[in-house]
Amino acid sequence: MRAAAISASGLALMVAIPATLYLCAYNELPLLSRDAAAIFGFLFFTALAPALIVSKAAAAAPSDALRRKLAGLLRPRWLALCILVVATLSAFAWRPVLAPAELPPPSVFPAPHSGRTLLIGVDGLCWETLRRWREQERNQDLAWLLERGYLGPLATITPTDSPLVWTTIATGVPPEDHGVKSFRTFEFPALDRMRLEIPPLPGRSYLLRALMRLKLAELRPVSSFDMRRRPFWEIACRPERPCDVVGFWATWPPQPFHGRLVSDRFYFVKSRGGGAWERTLDSYTTFPPQMERRLAQFRIAPEELTHARLLEFVDLSETDSAFDSVLTELRYGLAMDETYFQLAEQLLEDGARNGVFAFYFRGLDIVSHPALPFSDLYPEVPAPADQRRRFGKLVSRYYAYVFSRLRRLVERAGQDTLVLVASDHGFEREKEAYFNHHFAPPGVLLALGGGAETAPAELEAGIYDIAPTLLWLTGYPPSLDMPGRPLVDLFPKLDRSSLAAAERPRSYGYRWRNLPLKAPYDPESERQMLELLRTLGYIR
Ligand SMILES: [Zn+2]
Repeated sequence: MRAAAISASGLALMVAIPATLYLCAYNELPLLSRDAAAIFGFLFFTALAPALIVSKAAAAAPSDALRRKLAGLLRPRWLALCILVVATLSAFAWRPVLAPAELPPPSVFPAPHSGRTLLIGVDGLCWETLRRWREQERNQDLAWLLERGYLGPLATITPTDSPLVWTTIATGVPPEDHGVKSFRTFEFPALDRMRLEIPPLPGRSYLLRALMRLKLAELRPVSSFDMRRRPFWEIACRPERPCDVVGFWATWPPQPFHGRLVSDRFYFVKSRGGGAWERTLDSYTTFPPQMERRLAQFRIAPEELTHARLLEFVDLSETDSAFDSVLTELRYGLAMDETYFQLAEQLLEDGARNGVFAFYFRGLDIVSHPALPFSDLYPEVPAPADQRRRFGKLVSRYYAYVFSRLRRLVERAGQDTLVLVASDHGFEREKEAYFNHHFAPPGVLLALGGGAETAPAELEAGIYDIAPTLLWLTGYPPSLDMPGRPLVDLFPKLDRSSLAAAERPRSYGYRWRNLPLKAPYDPESERQMLELLRTLGYIR
């Protein structure tokens, strides 16, 4: 019995050691951490039961020769040797964890721009749709912006899930590195609610399904605990140059930094059908937390939008139902955009004169998904006449709405502001009357200030270039783990010499679970959030 217990724990060690090393490396967990110890303990005890069965089976092997052979293998001396070999070999698989870098110095070189810097993210702003809309509408606000700036396509990556792409835009590193790979992530209640990613090994989905059935793993919406690399606002912002951030994905609960942040869960409502809406409130949706109460007055609920307001976008007759799914999504997207546009204006109003501002708007993507097939911008798509009558102008009008708001923000930001408007992807027709962005159709890049109107038209830009560009504008070189480059040609009037001379750091370090601010866990609100993502068709 004693021998069996020793061999079983030996076998369990042979499973637990390499698996812990691999899991930690994959999740960039420091080996000498409480989390790593928890994983090891968990794996060891789960491996112990099958190992006991194996060693018992060895003792009861049918032939004498086989039993002797197996028993020989399970001798403590051999096991110890095997464990040593396994541990040494798995150490080679260890991807060296980046140092949890100290914050970079106030700036590496003098910032080429001393005024405000403004990044406006517009989800789903599509290069092809914009081209058609521009030709058809001759919009005044777009013309006003183009007189002052550069306009071009912005290449993106797949998959085009919003949290993944926007976190790539914010951090400048690939999803494998920043850790936000989807709308959802796995949480392990037995491991102090740790969020862990299981490597894509064969059998991964079976394992996860089994763990979920045993209540050992749960699916949760992504949160700021999943973001493993610093977004640009945590690198470049200082007391003397603060940042204001609104709406970015995976920013809840907000982590303390030099600035103000309104997280993606500040605005959360869900349609219950028949014109009823439900709103749950997470706590800690802003940083500093006390800002939440002041900003709450700007939250517009979908049901607060009047019918007349919707009629600015769609053409309904007296007999048309007011509860069409396209209308529901328009109501939701518009109320959310109106809320965030107001917050953006507030923050620009009292924000620093040299601050960095980053705002994110999601309404255009929400509206484009159901309404593009009926849009007059795509007359070649076979759409039912009735839908075309009601929703044919919706996408065009929403583009006009977005550009009027963009212009207003640019004017609000003031004269000496550099502006980048970026989107995560465009749209394309994937089937007869079905538009989506599975194959990474390009988004849009618009830049204003710093001589952007004279930037070369053939400039090639992608989402990886946004963070390096913002870092350059605030006096930092891109780190070596960022695949993109600062778009220096976008702003021909700015000095680029100090950037070329600056030494690039290996990385701006990782952020992990030792984040100072932990929000209380509310399973009900998270369940509703997943349900909302499902009704919007984002997840299955
Ligand atoms: Zn979308």
